[in-house]
Amino acid sequence: MSNLQHPELPVAVIGAGPAGLAAAAQLRSREMSFLVIEAGSVAGAAVREWSHVRLFSPWSELIEPAAAELLETTGWTSPDRDAYPTGGTWADDYLRPLADALGDSVRFGTRVVGVAKRGRDRLVDSGREDETFTVHVETAAGEELISARAVIDASGTWSGPNPLGGDGLPALGERGAADRIAYRIPDFAEPGTRARYAGRHVVVAGTGASAKGALIGLVALAEEHPSTRVSWLVRRASVGAAFAGSDSDELAERGALGRRAEEAVASGPVRTLNSFRTASVDRASDGTLTLTSVDGQVLDGVDEVIALTGFRPDLSMLSEIRLDLDPVLEAPRQLAPLIDPNVHSCGSVEPHGAKVLAQPEVGFYLAGMKSYGRATSFLTLTGFEQTRSIVAEIAGDHESAARVELTLPETGVCGGSGAFDDAASGGCCGTTAGPELIPLSVRP
Ligand SMILES: Cc1cc2nc3c(=O)[nH]c(=O)nc-3n(C[C@H](O)[C@H](O)[C@H](O)COP(=O)(O)OP(=O)(O)OC[C@H]3O[C@@H](n4cnc5c(N)ncnc54)[C@H](O)[C@@H]3O)c2cc1C
Repeated sequence: MSNLQHPELPVAVIGAGPAGLAAAAQLRSREMSFLVIEAGSVAGAAVREWSHVRLFSPWSELIEPAAAELLETTGWTSPDRDAYPTGGTWADDYLRPLADALGDSVRFGTRVVGVAKRGRDRLVDSGREDETFTVHVETAAGEELISARAVIDASGTWSGPNPLGGDGLPALGERGAADRIAYRIPDFAEPGTRARYAGRHVVVAGTGASAKGALIGLVALAEEHPSTRVSWLVRRASVGAAFAGSDSDELAERGALGRRAEEAVASGPVRTLNSFRTASVDRASDGTLTLTSVDGQVLDGVDEVIALTGFRPDLSMLSEIRLDLDPVLEAPRQLAPLIDPNVHSCGSVEPHGAKVLAQPEVGFYLAGMKSYGRATSFLTLTGFEQTRSIVAEIAGDHESAARVELTLPETGVCGGSGAFDDAASGGCCGTTAGPELIPLSVRP
């Protein structure tokens, strides 16, 4: 039996992205009442914003098993399991049909602005565990309260890109230069985007998969528009680690992305600036930007900046929920050491479920990308296993919740303690990697 009260109420799932809809499919398969609350007007609203990006995971790792079962009852045809979708096809061929199959249990155009225990702020102990959750939402029609027996927050981190500023706050002048700074990977096939960057001096900041994609795209653009210049800002002392492990990555497409980016950087019009942690952004009289690093390096004549330095979770809507998060990563405390790029080493990440994700607020869970806080190593498969286990726990099936039913792909890239600053120190693969780069590396 579930130890949660009020079985007559739905489980509220925040977000109709891959993780939220996976939770919903699990809830449906257990015949439990639920409501998915989605701010956007379509399923996978965040994924659609990177429609042009090809995933490095094949379809076989992007379809949740309970979701596939449900979809098969609707006459849905599974995509080729070995093919690699774009964000757009992932949303069109899987997330949308899945949301359709879930019917009225998915509410669009409904933004969660707060989660609390009914009538009790975070301070109040009395009767807390027995009380229902109240989810505060905003819709075009106004405000509303939704009661729930449990809450799974799968709202992702897409809305919270990190700033360019090296200390995690916007650099001096960064906000004022917003018209020339993009925080998401551009679609270089789109005419307006090409016009924006072609023939310009473009800065790319970051060393993760998105930054690599942007470098590849800009170098291709420079072939057609040779006056295009690219400056790549790397916070570490050397870029070597950014490409390490590409050859041994079990996610072949992720490894290939690394290799292509390395080639692009070597052959293209890319100037790399190491140890560049941006302190200020100034606008010259001709409108171009001058970037200055914390240690006084100056980069001027910049037309455009593409800052791809990771994401962070929006925890503001959870201010009245009792959370136990790691102070560094803002991920559940037990999960953090498994994914922290400062301490991570090969083999130390394990698939995890309800037990690791549990919070002091009984019945509240973070799942999907948001559960990783500021760590960027999240894989969709991990989210599927998280939601399977969380739903089992809410259902009272503790045995299933405790089981780990996942094998994650191995990667060649690992980090060691101090990986961020010490380019010479070795991780368990004999190399190090930056915070945006550390992927999961698991074989149970
Ligand atoms: C460019 C890119 C490529 C990636 N490629 C891969 C890959 O190849 N393989 C892989 O395994 N992983 C990949 N990932 C990582 C990860 O799997 C995806 O980010 C995935 O979309 C995360 O799913 P999610 O459901 O946790 O979050 P999201 O996809 O961000 O979904 C969250 C949903 O919540 C909604 N929402 C947000 N706030 C609220 C609110 N307050 N109220 C209501 N709704 C809200 C959003 O509109 C959105 O629909 C990639 C990520 C990115 C950004």
